[in-house]
Order: sequence, then structure tokens, then C-alpha cells
Amino acid sequence: MASGGGYRHSSSGAPTRLSTKIDKQNSGAYATPKASAKSRIPASPSTGSGFRRSSSGPLPAQPRASADAGVPGRVRVAVRLRPRNSEELVADADFGDSVELQPELKRLKLRKNNWESETYEFDEVLTEFASQKRVYEVVAKPVVESVLEGYNGTVMAYGQTGTGKTFTLGRLGDEDTAARGIMVRAMEDILADVSLETDTVSVSYMQLYMETIQDLLDPANDNIAIVEDPKTGDVSLPAATLVDIRDQKSFVELLRVGEQHRFAANTKLNTESSRSHAILMVHVRKTVKGRQDMDMSYRGENGHHTSSHSLRPPVIRKSKLVVVDLAGSERIDKSGSEGHTLEEAKSINLSLSALGKCINALAENSPHVPVRDSKLTRLLRDSFGGTARTSLVVTIGPSPRHRGETASTIMFGQRAMKVENMVKLKEEFDYKSLCRRLDIELDKLIAENERQRKYFEDEVERLRVEAQKRIAEAEKSCKIALENDKTKFQQDYMDSIKKLEEKWKVNQQAIEKSRAEQESRTATKSDELLEVRNMLENEKNLRQSSQDEIIDLRNQIQHWKKLEESRGAEIVKLRKLLDTEASQKEKLEEEIAVLKSQLLQLSIEAEETRRSLDRGASGKIFPGFDSLMSQANRNSQLRDQTNGPKPPIAKLFEQVGLQKILSLLESEDADVRVHAVKVVANLAAEEANQEKIVEAGGLTSLLTLLRSSEDETIRRVAAGAIANLAMNETNQEMIMAQGGVSLLSMTASDAEDPQTLRMVAGAIANLCGNDKLQARLRGEGGIKALLGMVSCGHPDVLAQVARGIANFAKCESRAATQGNTMGRSLLIEDGSLPWIVKNANNEAAPIRRHIELALCHLAQHEVNAKEIINEGALWELVRISRDCSREDIRMLAYRTLTSSPTLQAEMRRLRIEC
Ligand code: ADP
Ligand code: MG
Repeated sequence: MASGGGYRHSSSGAPTRLSTKIDKQNSGAYATPKASAKSRIPASPSTGSGFRRSSSGPLPAQPRASADAGVPGRVRVAVRLRPRNSEELVADADFGDSVELQPELKRLKLRKNNWESETYEFDEVLTEFASQKRVYEVVAKPVVESVLEGYNGTVMAYGQTGTGKTFTLGRLGDEDTAARGIMVRAMEDILADVSLETDTVSVSYMQLYMETIQDLLDPANDNIAIVEDPKTGDVSLPAATLVDIRDQKSFVELLRVGEQHRFAANTKLNTESSRSHAILMVHVRKTVKGRQDMDMSYRGENGHHTSSHSLRPPVIRKSKLVVVDLAGSERIDKSGSEGHTLEEAKSINLSLSALGKCINALAENSPHVPVRDSKLTRLLRDSFGGTARTSLVVTIGPSPRHRGETASTIMFGQRAMKVENMVKLKEEFDYKSLCRRLDIELDKLIAENERQRKYFEDEVERLRVEAQKRIAEAEKSCKIALENDKTKFQQDYMDSIKKLEEKWKVNQQAIEKSRAEQESRTATKSDELLEVRNMLENEKNLRQSSQDEIIDLRNQIQHWKKLEESRGAEIVKLRKLLDTEASQKEKLEEEIAVLKSQLLQLSIEAEETRRSLDRGASGKIFPGFDSLMSQANRNSQLRDQTNGPKPPIAKLFEQVGLQKILSLLESEDADVRVHAVKVVANLAAEEANQEKIVEAGGLTSLLTLLRSSEDETIRRVAAGAIANLAMNETNQEMIMAQGGVSLLSMTASDAEDPQTLRMVAGAIANLCGNDKLQARLRGEGGIKALLGMVSCGHPDVLAQVARGIANFAKCESRAATQGNTMGRSLLIEDGSLPWIVKNANNEAAPIRRHIELALCHLAQHEVNAKEIINEGALWELVRISRDCSREDIRMLAYRTLTSSPTLQAEMRRLRIEC
């Protein structure tokens, strides 16, 4: 029979007590199976709806246990009648049974006496012939299935000692498998259902006696405490031994051991097992298959996320099956023979009587249920009036001698049938396992990520190396191609020159030949007559030509006379013009001098005013300036009044004193400094003043200005003045001694105005012409500074640079000729050759001249020859020796080329002639 055919209850939902009268009238008045089927609560998965949730339905977002308030589920009660035992067969041989069972009507008739009986309806009525298998299926199987689906379940046997509680629940069936009881069969079903890879089944087994819980799997553990979760009210026995069950055999062995311990404990406590409650707890922890499958879709074929549910933790169901073999329900005083005191007797029965009270209270819907009165009721809190699915089997014996106990057992069962539980699914999310899984996933992703990163890095490195290799190859091939082209063009050039020269030679020879032929022809005419005639002819011609010449000379004299006259007039005119120009120039110069003196005067005045202000106007510091001022004022007044001659600037410093003008170079007023430096520069332009300026410390002041002034105008003018002073050899040495080269280099590198650069380049160029200063000038970066200035590109600057280089090269050349042996040219060392080669044919004549000279000087030393060839300067020298418009330079180049063995050799190699 299917488990679905198990329990049912009456249409009223409560057990029905029927009177014999009714029974006698018509059994059709009972709730029929059909009628009761309407309100029947499904008891197995096959019955569908009801409180079970469909496993194929949509998944809940929250664990069912917390979201679901539960489904009503009444406590199911079956009654089982034990067959007469041998004693009863004898003793009660003359009596009928105290009960009559009507299993098909699920009714039991309890005889009151020979003519009266009471009828009770149960969820299931099991006769003395009911097999253990059938008892399991109708009493326990629905509960076991429920547990496997995540609900708590309880199976409990209640009845008088000896009526078959242990037979029903605890038979191991060693000798006869058909005799196996509910515990063994339940475990069989559980183990068949779970997957031992993902699920666990564990068992604890204890007995409750005199309100003490003893561990039947560890007898030493004899006082186990009940722990209640304050939030959920769930009770647990953390101290109890919990054994994982993996197969049926070990479970049966465990039950056997438990049974032995129970026997030993009862012997020790001087009691019987009928006085203790045996409690088996089976904990089932299941991972819900449907969700697990879905979670497996976490990774697709390519290992990427494919499901939005990937972060949903797996669902686990933790349910518990409690099987309770209760102590005998008979009253203790009746059996009495055990020799307990009354207090002991009360304690022995405390749990059982408390269970009865709780069931009464629940059956009557009493507001107070005394759950806390005993340990048994605390342990079974979930089984009665809780969330568990509970099935009770009440066992009775047939003997009329125990009619009272039987009646009380039946009444207990009837009351229990009224107890309604709210079954709830015990389901929760397994966050720990999700966490573990995500950790593993994360590790995998990290490893993958690292692998990919390493791959990319390797790839980038490989590409970089490859690219470098390719660039190097391309550069190399490019260089080779360029070299080849260059050689080819030079070769072509050489060939064409050679051809032209050969043609010229051939032509020359042809001319020579024809001339010789003509001469030999003339020589053959030696006729005397012809000679005399010729002589006569000659005489005649001579006379004629002399006459013509005389006439011509006369004409020329006439012409010259006329020309002289007109030129005389022109000269007179030009002289007059020159005179006016000269007087005008003088006037202008005087005017310039006056203007300059006025300017200086104003500067001095400003300076004076400032100083007097600084010193609280206490007195004049520079009386000389006062006189200068008054002098200047007088002059201007004089000029205004008389418009007469004005004093030249030269006189100005005679009057004011050079020392004072120089002191103005340090004035704090920028304008004064500018004017003062201009005056000094003007003075320095005249050779006559140079010595005085240097003696008065002017050179030092100018160099100081170069070092300290921020104003480029001042630095430009100062550099100009220094350039002028640097024309003199003594001054050149002084400039060097005072670090002038570094200052000039610094000025060059800061300058923006080409005119400043021109001044600086001019000064350095002058220094380059001093034989004694060569090494030092170069050592202090003079050549580098010169070459640095070419980047400005201004022809004036380039001309000065070229002049400096030429000067330097000339000195080097001179030193070498004087026998001062030296190494390679310092100019070449400092890298000037490429610039020289590049500008050797510059459009500007001054630049070109200087460079041509420099090249000739450099080439005069064999030690430079190699570099000259390498840098392509040889071609330039050849060009100069052929094309230079200045004869002296052309000759110098020629001499240089012909005197150098290295250059000669190279020219031969290139087949160049000069
Ligand atoms: P209880 O546990 O209620 O005290 P037991 O299960 O120990 O009772 O049963 C007492 C005796 O009756 C045992 O010898 C048992 O084998 C026997 N017995 C009980 N129920 C049946 C039954 N349905 N069929 C045959 N023998 C039974
Ligand atoms: Mg028993």
C-alpha cells in the first residue's frame, strides 16, 4: 500500500468518539474515506499540493524556513494491537479481547463490559496481524520522507510496558529481516535517498531517566544538558555524541551498542528499561540538488560567467528525525514492585505525565502549555505544537486484565490526534560553501589573470626586441646605401673631370700640331725676291703706320686736353662739396657729443638726487659732477644763445674724470648704467683712450657688468667695448686673466639679440688671434662658445665666428711652423670641422674668406690631414685652389695641397689634380 494511503482524519479534523449506540445503528454515519479525503492533508510527496512544496517549482529568494510561516499538520496517531502472548493465551483463554478492531473503518471498539463498548477512530488501526513493514509504511514512512524533504519529524511509541513499543520501533531484525523495526527501516530509506558526497547523516542516541539524559553511545557522558536557542527556540543537545552514518550496517551496530549500554545503565541504576525513555535523533543535512545543478552553470564552456544566479549560495536543508521509545505508560504504583520511594516514582514518571499535560493543553487549545515542566517535553517541544511532522503509535495489549491501562492509552492517542503542528521547511542558504566555491573561483581567476599578464609582458618584450632589431637593420642598410651612393657620385664626378681633361689635352695637341704645320709651310718660302719685296712692303707699311700713329696721337692729345679741362672743373666742384660735407660732419659730431654729455649729465643728476635722498640730502658726494653739470648747463646755454661750437665727447671725460664715469657703471639706476656703459664703449672705440680706460680699471668694470647685469643692452654694449679693448695684446691677456672667456661664453648662451652675439663673437675672435692664449682660450670653452653661436644664423655673427676660427687656425699653424710640436688641431678636437666644411662656400664673402683661410691653415699640418679627408674638407681645399677669387688664398690652398703627402696620396687615389 502506498504511503499516500496512510493517515486520514475525520471531516471535523478531530478524532471522533462514537457511542456503541451509534455504532449499532449504522457504521455509515462515520466519516467515510470519501468524505474525509476532501480535508485530508497529503502525507507524502506523491499526494502533491498540501504543505509540500514542489521541488520543480521556482526557487525561493529566501530560505523557506524563514519565509514560510508553515503549513498546518496535525499529529497523526495509529493504534497497534499486540497479539496474545503465550501467557495470555493460557490465562485469558476463556475471555475475549478487551478491544475489537475494525481496520477497514480505522476504528477500535473498547469493551466496557459484555454489553457495552465505546468506539474510537484513529488515523490508522493496526491489528495483531499487521506486519512490521506495513507498520513502518503507515506510521513512519511519511515522516521519513518529510524529513528527507527538509522538515523535522517525530515518530513516537506510547503504551503500557510489554505492549510492543520497542518491538515496533527498535527491533534490529538480525535473525529475520521482516521483523526490522521503524528505526532500522527509516535509516534504510534515508541512506537510500541521500548522496553521501554532498549530504551528511549523523545520529545521537540517549535515554532519559529520572530527568537525567544519558548518552547511550558514550555511557560516561551521563548528564547531558538541553540547550535552547533563545532566538528560534530550537532545542539541541550539543554534548551528546554525534556519529556520522555512512552505511546501514554501522547504524545497526550503533543501535546494538546503544541497546547494550541502555541495559548496562539500567542494571546499574537498578531500574528497567521500561522506566526510561529512549531517544534516537537522526540529523540529515542535504544540499538541494536542483539548485546545485543550476549553480553548476556558473561557468560556461569558455569559462566565463553565464548565469546571473552565479552568486546565489547553494541551499541546504537541515532536518531532524526524532524517534522516541517512551517509558511504559502504566502507573508506577501499580507495578510497584521496583522498590522506589514515592518521590522517586514521581520523578520517574515526571516526563511522561508532563507530556500528557502538554498534549491535553494543546488538544484543548489552552493558552498555556507547560512545556518547561520536564526534560521530555522540552526535548519534544517541536514535535507537539511545533514545526515537526509527528506520528504517534499507541500500542495496546489484548488482555482484559489491563483494560484500564489500555483505555488510558487509547485516550492519550485520541487527545494527541487533536494536536495541530505547523510544519515548516528547515532550509537555509549555505553561505560557507558558496564562499568556499567563490574562493576557489577567485583563485582560478587570479591565476588566469597572472598567466595572461605574464603572457602580455613577454609579448611586449618580444615585440620591443624585434622592433629594435628591425630598426638597427634598417639603419645599417640605409647607411650602406648612402655610402654607396656617395662613392658612386664621387666616382662619376671624378670620371667626368678626367674625361674633360683628356678632351682638353687632345684639343691642345691638335692646336699645337696645326701651328707647327703652318710654321713649316712658311719656312719653305725662301725666295729672295719675295724677301726684298716683302722688305719694301714692310718699309711702306711702317711709314704709313707711323703717319697714322702721329695723327692718332695728335687726336688723343686734343681729347686729353678737353678731358683735363672738364675734370678740373669737376674737381673744383667736388672739393667744394667735400668742404661742405666736412663742415656738416663736424657740426653733427659736435651735436652728438653735446647730446651725449647732456644725457650723461641727466644720469649723473638722477644718481646724485637718489644718493642725496638716500643720505637724507645731507650733502654733495660728487662735487666733480656738480661742476660737470654746471659746465654742461653753461655749454647748453652758450649754445642756445650763440649757436657756437660745442665741446666733443673726448673732452667730457677730461672734465668729469674717467674714474667717475666708470663709477657710474655701478650705479643702482639702470638708465644711468646704460648711458655710462655706452659712453665707455664710445671711448673704448678710440685707440687713444683704450690704455687710459684699462688703467682706470674700466676693463674690470666691464667684465663685472657682463657677469652681473641682467640687462641685455648693457651686456651687449659692454661686450662691444671689451671686443674693442681686446684688439690690444696686453688687454687680451688681462681679459683672459680675469676669466673673460667664461663670461663671454655665458653672455653668448644667454643672449637673444644677434648684435650681442656679434659683439661677443668679435671679442672672442680677437682673443683667438693671440698665440700665447691658445690653450687657455680653448680650455675655458672659447671655441665651443664660438661654435655655439653659429646656431643664430645671422651673417654678422657668422662672420665673427669665422674670423675667430681663422685667427685660431693661423696661430696654430704659426706655432707648428715655429717647431712647437703639437697634436691634432684644438679646433678639430672641439668639432669645428663640419661647420667649416659646410660654410666654406658661404655666399657672404667675409665668412667665406675667413673659412678658406682657416681651412688652409688647418691643412698645413699633416696631423690634421686624416680628419680633413674624413670630413670631406679635401674637396673644399681643391675647390679653393682652383676657384678662389683671391689669388693669395688660391695659392695658399695650392701650396698646402701639394705639400701634404697624405692629401697628395688621397688625391692620387681619387685621381684629383690641382
Ligand atoms: P514494550 O517495549 O512496550 O515494553 P516489547 O516491545 O518489549 O514491549 O514487547 C513485549 C513482548 O511482546 C516482546 O517479547 C515482544 O516480542 C512481544 N511483542 C510485542 N509486539 C508484538 C507483535 N506485534 N507481534 C509479536 N510479538 C510482539
Ligand atoms: Mg520497551
